Amino acid sequence: MANRNLTPIELRNLFAPLFNDVREKLDSASGGDEQLLWALRRKLAKELSYLERGKPMERKALKLAKRVEQHGLCAICGQPLPESGAVLDRKEAMAGYTLENTRLVHHECDRQVKPNEGSPNDHGLALLSRLAIFS
Ligand SMILES: [Zn+2]
Repeated sequence: MANRNLTPIELRNLFAPLFNDVREKLDSASGGDEQLLWALRRKLAKELSYLERGKPMERKALKLAKRVEQHGLCAICGQPLPESGAVLDRKEAMAGYTLENTRLVHHECDRQVKPNEGSPNDHGLALLSRLAIFS
């Protein structure tokens, strides 16, 4: 199943107003303090990524479980994984980081399997700039 992307209409009617609300709330909450704005924006981005990907400790525990399950071998090439830097690859991004939906692989093997996979956000941002929502 492909990742759910927003349609151009959803981008314009749902995402753009939501994003503008968030920006206005960040501006308002920081009260003109640029450093506070930076810290709030960074914290919000981090918390949003946790909603999708889980917290770092949860992913670390899952990585360890996958390493044991795969006997320390890459799920793509079958060679031993490095002690650190192995990639927890989701079979379907929307299904999240679970034992069933992930595999532990070499960084290089992961890149070879999906060399042209751009971030879904690139697609959305390209659409947004075409719609000139940010202007
Ligand atoms: Zn490999």
